[in-house]
Amino acid sequence: MSSLPFCVIAGPCSIESYEVLTQVARTIQDLGVTALRGGIYKMRTNPESFQGLGESAYSIVAQVKQELGLSLVSEVTDVRQIKGLSEVADVLQVGTRNMYNYELLKELGKQEKPVLLKRGLSAYLEEWLQAANYVIQGGNSRVMLCERGIRTFERETRNTLDLAAVPILKSKVNYPILVDPSHGTGRKDLVLPMALAAAAAGADGLLIEVHPNPEKALSDGAQALDLFELEDLMKRLRTLLPALGRRLSDPGIPFFSSL
Ligand code: PEP
Ligand code: MN
Repeated sequence: MSSLPFCVIAGPCSIESYEVLTQVARTIQDLGVTALRGGIYKMRTNPESFQGLGESAYSIVAQVKQELGLSLVSEVTDVRQIKGLSEVADVLQVGTRNMYNYELLKELGKQEKPVLLKRGLSAYLEEWLQAANYVIQGGNSRVMLCERGIRTFERETRNTLDLAAVPILKSKVNYPILVDPSHGTGRKDLVLPMALAAAAAGADGLLIEVHPNPEKALSDGAQALDLFELEDLMKRLRTLLPALGRRLSDPGIPFFSSL
């Protein structure tokens, strides 16, 4: 079982506006959530879908961080974004579609920022660990992995969350292993049970999509918890974690400081 404090990274799928981000960020701070997530560059399957605010989100993030002092996890989709994004993000996320983008991974290996590497949509665990090695061999050992579901024949869920990956990876490597039950299921009703199951399986933390008004979210509303549902999740984690011999990461301490 992991000895790291358990971290929760929560926030909107995409950063949409100052108003939405600050509302989520304030709640996150009140609830003792470890860090904020929010996409600035989005890799949408449909080119007609909202692609993220891009560079124009930087000033929104800078303002919210200045007001609240939270850490931000945000996805980098192209090497050209690394420099600018690093000024506002504390952890650079590599999404499922880019797990095989070895040039991006090599470049992230030269950076100081921790890298949150999501599992490719149909990646074997072995391929995923090899992808992580691209970052590590470049000189950046601050890698964390995030299971986010894989594509199977099952259609009831958006993806099939592979929780067995957690104890398997924990037995092989020392990196923190996170679980994203939002993309892992695509269904908000399944986020709470799968989040608790991930903790019980020995995960080091969670990546959770939340939105103050999920029906109005510009991306992934069907899988986003509202702020009350996030509060409920945090309450349940505070009950479950001690029973597992674990504790929640202290509020205000960036979760990656324990790496
Ligand atoms: C995300 O976390 O917003 C995201 C796009 O995830 P994934 O790459 O797992 O689809
Ligand atoms: Mn999303």
